Amino acid sequence: YPDLKGRTAIVTGAGKKTGIGYAIAAKLAACGANIVVADLGRPQPDQSQVSTASSEQMQDIEKQIADDFKVRCRALSLDVTDSESISQMVASVVREFGGIEILCNNAGASFGVPSDVENYDEAAWVKTIDVNLNGVFRVSKAVIPEIRQAGGGSIVNIASRAGKVAPLFNSAYAAAKAGVIMLTKTMAKELAGAGIRVNAICPGQIMTDIEKWRFELEAQFFNTTAEQRQKEMCATIPLGRIGEPAEVADLAAFLASEASSYITGQAMNITGGQLM
Ligand code: NAD
Repeated sequence: YPDLKGRTAIVTGAGKKTGIGYAIAAKLAACGANIVVADLGRPQPDQSQVSTASSEQMQDIEKQIADDFKVRCRALSLDVTDSESISQMVASVVREFGGIEILCNNAGASFGVPSDVENYDEAAWVKTIDVNLNGVFRVSKAVIPEIRQAGGGSIVNIASRAGKVAPLFNSAYAAAKAGVIMLTKTMAKELAGAGIRVNAICPGQIMTDIEKWRFELEAQFFNTTAEQRQKEMCATIPLGRIGEPAEVADLAAFLASEASSYITGQAMNITGGQLM
């Protein structure tokens, strides 16, 4: 495991045990980092697709990470669309942990009904861009001064394969994730001199709530079953299976640590070979 002892890491959207964010938080904790699990802690009223983390789930994760890995862990509520909630979260972290060296921008969501651009609901478009792209900007803007203050560190943004290869009927999410990739590269250039590396991870199909929702939706659309859709999807993946959140977490820990000291500004695919 890369050594992250004594570092403090914020992972956004880490409040559900089934999610990629939780797997990343647990892996960074296993590497010795103190962890801030930052998530909504309440439902998203206009989110029609996948449930968000509840405050009970977040408390449970806080305790489990502290117990399992003997590091300090704090669950804090955060809405990446709300600058005030971001500054409060950052202020609490600095108060409690003294500084921040690692930020993983993982929170993400899709809104509305998948459809072509002509029929795409404008409110769903705006909200999808706001959470997935503007959220990465807002949280990074608030945390960068703290990483500078700590003398350097690493930012890992969770983008998507959809930011590189156009998916059907999911334009807002694809545009947001492509934006995250370019924001990653811009920040990497701007922050290299400050000893802050910035990289993005582009997962393909990873088994979480989002992926399950998608198979169910596609099953309705193609008049088949979710299991059948999953099977068809696996046939397009050279490694022949859907990925696990823990596999994304291994890459995130590598990028967060000095093990990747000469890597910055990259958008790394983790797709079982679906994207080469
Ligand atoms: P998930 O739904 O399990 O996790 C997303 C988390 O983000 C949830 O805990 C949710 O509460 C949180 N969140 C949503 N809106 C928020 C907000 N406004 N403020 C703070 N937190 C908020 O989904 P996941 O699959 O674990 O997704 C994690 C990341 O990985 C997302 O950025 C997603 O786009 C990306 N991704 C996932 C896949 C996949 O196949 N699962 C593929 C590519 C990229």
